[in-house]
Amino acid sequence: MKAFKGCVNRECKAYKTRVSYKEKFEYCPHCGEKLEYVCANCWKVLEQNDQRLCVGCSVEKEEKKEQKKEKVINAGKAIVGVAPVIWKQKDKIVDFTKKAVNVIKKK
Ligand SMILES: [Zn+2]
Ligand SMILES: [Zn+2]
Repeated sequence: MKAFKGCVNRECKAYKTRVSYKEKFEYCPHCGEKLEYVCANCWKVLEQNDQRLCVGCSVEKEEKKEQKKEKVINAGKAIVGVAPVIWKQKDKIVDFTKKAVNVIKKK
């Protein structure tokens, strides 16, 4: 994804509120400062405009993605771990249901 432009004048409203501008904008409409390609996350000036995030932020993002994947795998393992326990208990569960039915019948 392509980077967007942003005002890097720290005194400017557009900087403080992190307004992003399209490619065709050259100068900030608020302060007249020249716009730079900035990182969508940390607002650092980018040297290239072919990425939305600076190197630091894209690494961070990748790491978060990896962590998420791991969590999903762990959750899967937990379910697999629980299934056999339920299976072993199934007779008891059936028993219990029968008893419950009997109780209802007696009434
Ligand atoms: Zn500005
Ligand atoms: Zn960044």
